[in-house]
Order: sequence, then C-alpha cells, then structure tokens
Amino acid sequence: MDFSKDLICENLTNRDGVLHFAGQNTADLAAQYGTPLYLMDENRIRQQVAVYRDTLRECFGDKGHALYASKACAFKRMYAIMAEEGISVDVVSAGEIASAHAAGFPMENVYFHSNNKTDFDIAYAMDCGVGTFVVDHPEELAAIDAIAAEKGVVQPVILRITPGIDCHTYEAVNTGKVDSKFGSAIVTGDASRIVKQALDAANVKLCGFHCHIGSQVFDSSVYIATVDVMVDFLAEMKKTFGYSAEKLDIGGGYGVRYVATDPVIDIAASIREVAQQMQVRVAEAGIEMPHIYMEPGRSIVADAGLTLYTVGAVKKIEGYKNYVSVDGGMTDNPRFALYGSEYTVLPATRLEDERDMVADVVGRCCESGDIIQPDVALPADMARGELLAVLTTGAYNYSMASNYNRIPRPPVVMLRDGESYVAVRRETLEDILALDK
Ligand SMILES: *Cc1c(COP(=O)(O)O)cnc(C)c1O
Repeated sequence: MDFSKDLICENLTNRDGVLHFAGQNTADLAAQYGTPLYLMDENRIRQQVAVYRDTLRECFGDKGHALYASKACAFKRMYAIMAEEGISVDVVSAGEIASAHAAGFPMENVYFHSNNKTDFDIAYAMDCGVGTFVVDHPEELAAIDAIAAEKGVVQPVILRITPGIDCHTYEAVNTGKVDSKFGSAIVTGDASRIVKQALDAANVKLCGFHCHIGSQVFDSSVYIATVDVMVDFLAEMKKTFGYSAEKLDIGGGYGVRYVATDPVIDIAASIREVAQQMQVRVAEAGIEMPHIYMEPGRSIVADAGLTLYTVGAVKKIEGYKNYVSVDGGMTDNPRFALYGSEYTVLPATRLEDERDMVADVVGRCCESGDIIQPDVALPADMARGELLAVLTTGAYNYSMASNYNRIPRPPVVMLRDGESYVAVRRETLEDILALDK
C-alpha cells in the first residue's frame, strides 16, 4: 500500500517505515524526550516567516510588513525566533506580552489585539513599551486614552474595522460578519465614529486600520474583497476627516494542510495577487499607499509541528467500534473537541504496514468528547506501547493546552539542523500543585 500521500508537508519522510520529521527519527525523539511530545521544526518556521516577509517586501518595498500572530503558538523561544527573523508580532494578553518581553523581543514591534483589554492589560502593555494597540471599540479607546494621559504618554493605535466580509462565501456583503464580536463595523457607521473619537483623543495617535476576516482561507479572493472594502474606507476617511492612514493591516488567515485532501496553497503567489489589487485600488482611489501588514499565525507554525503519543490501549468492541487510547488528548489538542477539526494520524514506526482497522483515536480525559480524531486507519494488531504521530499540530495546540484532569502539559522540543532542544519543558506534578494553597 502507498501511504506517501499522508506525508502532507515536505518536512515529513518515511525511512524504512519510520516517520522522520525535519530529518529526525520520531521514535528516537520519543525515546529521548518521552510522550506525549510536541515537536517543532524550527527551519520550517523560519522558512514560512521568510515567505511572508520577503514577498511583502518584494511587493511593497519598505512598506510591506509581516507580523506573526503569536496566539497560534507562543512561548519565549518563539518570540526570539521572530525577533531574529526581523518581523513584528501580535499579542492578545498580558501573558503574551510578558513572554515577548522576557524573550527580549523589541516591544516597539508588538501589536496588542484583543476585544477586551482590561485596565491592567492596558497599563501593563504601556509599561512594557508595546508599540501599537489595535483598538476594538469606543470604550476601550477611551480607557487607553485615559490611562495614557495618566502616564503622560501618547499611545500609537490602529483601529480594528469590520469590513463586512463573509469569509465562507468570500464575498463582500453588507451583513456578513458585521455581527462579529470584534471591531467596529463600517456599514453601521461605528467605524467612522471611532475614527472621529481617535482623532479627537489627546493621548492616542491614530496610525491606521486593521481587519481580520477569518481563518483556514485557501483563496486570494477573500483578501481581494478585503482590500476593495478597506481602500474605499481609507478614501472615505480621507474625504470625511482629511485623515490619511499610515498603516493598513489586512489580517491573517491563510490555510494549512491537515489532511491530504486539503489544497496546497502558494502563499507568495496569493500575496502578489492581493498586492496587485492593492496597487490598482489605491491608485484609483487617489490615496497614498499605506504601510501594508499581514499577520499570519497558523500558516507560520502549523505544519512545523507534530505531536507524538504512546498508545495505552486498543479496545475493540466487536460489532461496534474500535478505540485507540493515547497518553494525551484534548488537554494537548482540543481542536477536534472544539471544532471537529481534521487531522492526519499515522502509526509512526509502521508507515508501510497494512492499515486494516478503523478506530477512533481518543485521549485519556474523563470526557467522551476527548477525541483526537475519529475513523483513523491503523494496523489491526496495533498494541499498547506503540507510537502514533499526529501531523500539523504546531498551531493552536500547545497554545490551547489545558490541565483538565490535572494532566501535565507536554514539552515543546525544537528540531533544528539535525539537532533538538527543549524550548518548553514538560510540566511536572509539582507544577500542577504549585498554585494550590
Ligand atoms: C487569529 C488571528 C490572526 C491569525 O490567524 P491565522 O488563521 O492563525 O493566520 C491574525 N489576526 C487576528 C486579529 C487574529 O485574531
């Protein structure tokens, strides 16, 4: 049987039936670091960053910028890598700000999102020197202005605008997504009102606009629709307030392959198409080209990640269903439980064996919904002690991990040029008890 189609990213290889990731033997890594184990391919991360950074520069010169949306996978080493690659980052909480700060990330290159920044968050971000706040709504803008006044600073901000684009139909519509919990909608007049408020506020400096349409996008047309709406908005703001936006952030969202049937996307080619549209529309609108930002998260880190588990039990309920239980679960990968997300699950040391059993791969939590992936084809004689690999787990796995059932979180081990190192150590039982009085 040919299972080569399952090797959905170029950093996956089959050597004598054993899965190698970033050129390294997954069985050896499991033996060295234990399971469950998050592996991350550092070279792949840097390669993906380069696609965005270099293509945006190629299209917009020094006005093209890549941001990493760090909520996809955040720990100190990740911020250090982004600093080395010379790109900016998005953060959404004081915890992410603290991590970037502790990693020595240049805080002027940090963009602070979130639809509800607390007063503590706002003050903490200012104290850390966060460069730009991405403001969600009028009350927040007033709070930022007031706290900046107390501190005697003028805080640069960009405003999150809801362009009213439904990323599922990839069309600009007047209603779709206007009901989002994020941002201020153009169609309701809220966007225009918050621009006025920002221009009038003494302790914020309005630097431009932000929007983010959705996720797992495989098509340029959603960004092209975004560009159309946002350039019109920029032109309208210029006409209404005489305000020229210095920055326009068109969001993240490019898709990745979780399974072999997901499309392959040429991100550089798509960015070039979007940039072309941007140039045409800006010229038509008679406005100056702003600095253009894109802020991918998933597509930077997703296929740079892989999770290894050890099988604990193979339960065959004759005439009903088969279960393969692993030593992790929804605590380290909640995405099937949350969204029904698809994943490719492979028997890491038996890539060439017949896969003649269909089983649900489940975790060890006390929860029937604790499923990594249903209906996975695996060898029927799979047994306790064997290794399973789940592919494309670099985004929204470690960053969404929990301690449900007081299960310690796995470590993150980085792979680079044939070597490996621990970026986040395994949680211990002492860590689990650390907060209890
Ligand atoms: C989550 C998010 C991103 C990144 O989205 P991906 O799908 O991971 O690329 C970018 N911008 C904002 C505002 C987000 O909330």
